[in-house]
Amino acid sequence: MNQDNFRTITPYVPGIQPGFADMIKLNTNENPYPPSPKVIEASEKFNAADLRLYPSVDVGPLRDALAAYHGFDRGCVFVGVGSDDVLATIFQACFNSGRALLFPEITYSFYEVWARLYNIKAEKIPLRSDFTIDADAYIGVENGGIVIANPNAPTSIAMSGSDIERIIVNNPDNVVVIDEAYVDFGGESVLEFVRKYDNLIVVRTFSKSRSLAGARIGYCVACPELISVIEAVRNSINSYTNNRPSIEMGVASVGDEKYFRDTIAKVIKTRERLTGELKELGFNVLPSSANFLFAEPPAMLSAAEVYEGLAEKHIYVRHFKIKGIDNFLRITVGTDEQIDTMLSEVRKMLKK
Ligand SMILES: *Cc1c(COP(=O)(O)O)cnc(C)c1O
Repeated sequence: MNQDNFRTITPYVPGIQPGFADMIKLNTNENPYPPSPKVIEASEKFNAADLRLYPSVDVGPLRDALAAYHGFDRGCVFVGVGSDDVLATIFQACFNSGRALLFPEITYSFYEVWARLYNIKAEKIPLRSDFTIDADAYIGVENGGIVIANPNAPTSIAMSGSDIERIIVNNPDNVVVIDEAYVDFGGESVLEFVRKYDNLIVVRTFSKSRSLAGARIGYCVACPELISVIEAVRNSINSYTNNRPSIEMGVASVGDEKYFRDTIAKVIKTRERLTGELKELGFNVLPSSANFLFAEPPAMLSAAEVYEGLAEKHIYVRHFKIKGIDNFLRITVGTDEQIDTMLSEVRKMLKK
């Protein structure tokens, strides 16, 4: 067949999902704890006979629950199939000026994939040498939009709300997207700024802090004008996105604030312990505000060696073969027990 029929594109590559029963999976930033018991109850109560019906056209009950939770009108909320779906829809809806979209050189690598897929010109802005994002590099630069993950991935480092506000204020004619996938674990959210700035979109996910990666729920909050633009694109592709069981589980999750807070606190506590232990072993650990660490092993071992050594024991962390960060490992904060097993393997490698 004629190859000009096809689009060639290099896709995003997620962390591997090996099927070993005994594996310790610290490579895709999933939550090590199950979702709220209320979510499990909602899934058990779900009547599969209802699957003959299409789900609500605008993810109604979950959209309403999120609007009430954050204190916004429902017209300010858009729900999608994971934040990847929400972000991909925003890319198609909001970055059509022909001017370059700005995002950090080291960040969630899906941004570059969507820019290529949707033919959006992109300009990658270098991080400072300490891996922080320099807000000034996004000010006074001609652009067609800005996307920043806060906390950033895979660096785990958060940016201050005031730095983000400066970027929003100084780019009034373009959409600024803040991807808050990890913000519940420590970053400063700019969700409240949506009330003040009509060029801001804040994107959130249920995949990390709500332990619902498998249910595929993400959303964004923005002014109603922007939400309508995003909805129009979604409704030009697929009007029924989130499925019925997942909508009910999402509503149940939003309804259990105590479990949500308790789970986050457990992850943060383990993160702090893991940071301390890795530093004691000589690792350079970047200051994390997320549910993962970005860490460079001590000189006697390379990140690739630690990655391989752990993988042999069916312990999976993430190693990016990308210039500038190829001696770092991204390690998801697991349970205390998982972390102890990983640390004991690392100690063996270091002969400590
Ligand atoms: C995990 C992640 C997402 C996507 O998560 P979904 O599972 O699609 O909601 C988006 N942005 C960043 C920075 C992430 O790490």
